[in-house]
Amino acid sequence: MHEKEAKTILSTQNGMNPYCGCTCGCLVCAARGACRRKSSAFDDVEIRANAPALLETALRRKRSRCMIVTGAMGDPYQVLEGERKLMRSCLEVIDRCGFGVSVETRSPLITRDLDLLESIGRKSRCVVVMGLSTMDPELSGKIEEGVSSPEERLRAIEALRDAGIPVIVRLDPVLPFVNDSRENLKEVLEACVGASVYGVRLPGPGILLRAAERERFYQKLGEKFPGLPERYRAVYGDAGELMIPHFEELEKYLRGICAGCRMECSSEKLFRWQHAFVDRQAGVQMNLFDLYPEAMRMPQK
Ligand code: SF4
Repeated sequence: MHEKEAKTILSTQNGMNPYCGCTCGCLVCAARGACRRKSSAFDDVEIRANAPALLETALRRKRSRCMIVTGAMGDPYQVLEGERKLMRSCLEVIDRCGFGVSVETRSPLITRDLDLLESIGRKSRCVVVMGLSTMDPELSGKIEEGVSSPEERLRAIEALRDAGIPVIVRLDPVLPFVNDSRENLKEVLEACVGASVYGVRLPGPGILLRAAERERFYQKLGEKFPGLPERYRAVYGDAGELMIPHFEELEKYLRGICAGCRMECSSEKLFRWQHAFVDRQAGVQMNLFDLYPEAMRMPQK
């Protein structure tokens, strides 16, 4: 890890990341590709110690308030955050300036900041997106090495729910022949229903492998699942996307479970809702979800 004075912190899409990189070491990681640094340097986390100050300046300059989105370049609640508290400081800024926030993480450490998340949610919108794609701790340990157990993440989701903070669960990553069985994913959806999550982002049709990640991916895959790289190569050859077998049937099955439980799983609706800023102090900005809250399992937060 190393510190770096960042020049800017807020992207044109209002993305904000106090860390670039992550030490969790998941087999598949979209942030690894999003981080503009080399994939091999992803574990050498760049700590942007001046992130809170830069964020405050950027938010004060904005003409209108909006949702600030974090988690695209590394988990903002990775182990480092326990000590550095940069994400906490950024939340303090967001709260002070009256902006909303959407935080993507796989870590129960986020519950440390419940007070700030609640405060932001009272004034605006606060959404947490939690990654979870198996309830099997052993399998999770292989797919998401360095990430807390599924049970711990579920407890965190419940704590967020109890604090009135809506959670979207992201069923990701789903690896062919590893955790793509109906039984495995049904178990995750059942846990989501039990925890009254706001919605679920279902997996895409396959795992996208960037050329720069290929070697590392196959090496780690072989370490965790001996024999699987050979199977993948036999099925997919050099293809850049590892498609989930019988994906359409699987997706239909998962959508059926969600519909039966009235749990929102439309990626488009969830995305729009997650990014729609709400000013609770001056009246609610209406969007489709505000107009039709009965379509959701949970009341509007
Ligand atoms: S926790 Fe998130 S950012 Fe970190 S390695 Fe895993 S998927 Fe990537």
